[in-house]
Amino acid sequence: MDLKSRFTGCLIGLALGDALGAPFEGSPSGKKSLQYLPPVLHYSDDTEMSIGVTESLIAEKGFNPDDMAERFYKNFNIRRGYGAGTISVLRLIKKGMHWSEANKKVFPQGSFGNGAAMRAAPIGLFYFNDSKNLKEVTYTASSITHDHPLAKEGALLITTAVSEILQGRTKEEILESLLHTSEIKEYQEKLKTVESFLQKDITAEDVISALGNSVLALESVPSAIYAFLKYGEDYLKTVEFCLSLGGDTDTISAMAGALSGAYVGIENLPEEFIERLEDKDKLQGLSLELLERVINP
Ligand SMILES: [Mg+2]
Repeated sequence: MDLKSRFTGCLIGLALGDALGAPFEGSPSGKKSLQYLPPVLHYSDDTEMSIGVTESLIAEKGFNPDDMAERFYKNFNIRRGYGAGTISVLRLIKKGMHWSEANKKVFPQGSFGNGAAMRAAPIGLFYFNDSKNLKEVTYTASSITHDHPLAKEGALLITTAVSEILQGRTKEEILESLLHTSEIKEYQEKLKTVESFLQKDITAEDVISALGNSVLALESVPSAIYAFLKYGEDYLKTVEFCLSLGGDTDTISAMAGALSGAYVGIENLPEEFIERLEDKDKLQGLSLELLERVINP
């Protein structure tokens, strides 16, 4: 499969997963119907921040955390469902405080929410062939708003999975690589649970109780990875499973959707929903510009 298809599939897959998940954010577990969604599918903060990450990588021809932080607050639209902590950090940055100070003022220990992992996929695309920068950039880009090791590690699992997918690895190889990537015990344990779950018949309830469905990185990234590894060759099935978990459905579905979208490519995403996705042309354009920067740096 060509890189164009994977880049576009990843970014559109992220945004569509977010948009399909957003109406069910905070819902209880159980199957969700996609039949009664509004004609236009609006995305939330997950996609808005991923757009900021992508625009910054394109404009700066690589990673510049100050530029990325500036784009986060310039793109900021309060109706997109941002978490209260992130809103406070972005407002301080807008007032002129450096991001490294602003995040400490709001989260003295660093936020361990999933706000860095939810926007990390474009970093995995940009550095898919550059494992050294992939890790450093993922960590620093996370730190802008989420400086806790659990938040940064969650983002690294997403960028690592994206880069492995772009390199054409099988799902077994991707899981193997993730098991080696994680240096934090809590993630290692959850990934081992993911590995054992893939061998069995597992319900949404099992995933919620063992892996989680909350806004914490540790309680959502492993669930998104499980959804991708279990259902990833079928984008809609992957997203529907994420929605069935309830809880932080938009973010879990955005992360799993980015992975599945990169895995199957844009041609295999559900057209009837993409047609209704807000800003689909802009997202497609950004993914192609990002690829152009990777090919012709
Ligand atoms: Mg959201």
